[in-house]
Amino acid sequence: MILHTIEDVREQIKNWKKEGLTIGLVPTMGALHAGHLSLIKKSVEKCDRTVVSVFVNPIQFCPGEDLDKYPRTLDADEKLCNDAGVNIVFAPSPKEMYGEGHILSNDFLTYVIPPYFYVDKLCGKSRVGHFDGVCTVVNKLFNIVQPDYAFFGQKDAQQLIIIKKMVKDLNIPVEIIPCPIVREENGLALSSRNKYLSEEDKKEAFVLSRILFNIKACYDKGITDVKALTETAYSFLNEHHNLEYLEFRDKENLEGKTVADKDTQVFIALKIGNVRLIDNILLG
Ligand code: AMP
Repeated sequence: MILHTIEDVREQIKNWKKEGLTIGLVPTMGALHAGHLSLIKKSVEKCDRTVVSVFVNPIQFCPGEDLDKYPRTLDADEKLCNDAGVNIVFAPSPKEMYGEGHILSNDFLTYVIPPYFYVDKLCGKSRVGHFDGVCTVVNKLFNIVQPDYAFFGQKDAQQLIIIKKMVKDLNIPVEIIPCPIVREENGLALSSRNKYLSEEDKKEAFVLSRILFNIKACYDKGITDVKALTETAYSFLNEHHNLEYLEFRDKENLEGKTVADKDTQVFIALKIGNVRLIDNILLG
C-alpha cells in the first residue's frame, strides 16, 4: 500500500501498535536497487510490519547538488516493495514533510544538528549542512512511524554513525540495525547515483573498492602504519579519478587514526567526471 500523507501513516501505525505488532522502518530516497532491498528483506524478516519511506529530502542537498536530477522511479519502487512484502510505502511530498514555506526556504524549520566533530570531516566537509538535513528528516520519520527497528546501510557509514549517535543522545526509542554493503560483481558498491555513470565511467568506478580491498589485504598482512596504507592507493589512481578523501577513522566516533587497528574504518570519496562516489571498509 502506498501512502502520501503523515495522517494516513499515523492511522495505520496506531492500529498496528494496538495489535502489539513490531514495526521496521527503512528510510530511502527511492530509485531502489539490491542494496535497498537487502535492508527491506532484513526488516520483513525481523518485524511484523515494514514501512519503507521514499523521499528525496530537499534539505539534505546542498546548493548546486543533484536534487533536481536525482532519479525518481516511484512506480517501480512501489512494485519492488510490494513484491518484497512491504506493508507501507510512505512517499510524502516535500510540502507534506516541511509545509509550504520550507520547500524553498528552510529558515523557520526546527533542525536536529549533530555534533560538529562528527560533521566537519569526510562527506560533511564538502556537503555543509547535509547531515543536519539527514538527522532532521530521519527524526521526523521516527516520530511519524515510531518504528521498533530502523535499518541503515553501512554504505553510508558516516550517516550511520551519526544516526546512532543521535538516537543515543536524544534517547529515541528505536534500535538501529546496520546492514552490510551490497556490491556489484566488480566490487562497485550499489548506489542510486551509479545511474549517472556512463558504461566507461562504471569501469573506472570499481577503483574505490579496489583501493579499499587492497588496504584491507595489506592490513591483514600486518601493515598498520596509516601513511604506508594510504600510499598503496596511489598506484590505482589515474587522471579519470579525482580523489576527495581517503581517511582512516574510528568506526564509532570518527576519531582519526595514525595506526590502523580492528576498530579502524577506511573511508573514500572520489569523483569520476561529475559523479561523486563514496565507499568504506572496516579493517577488523
Ligand atoms: P539512499 O536511498 O541512498 O538514501 O539509501 C537508503 C538506505 O539504503 C541507506 O541506509 C543506505 O545506506 C542504504 N544503501 C544504499 N546503497 C546500499 C548498498 N549498496 N548496500 C547496502 N545499503 C545501501
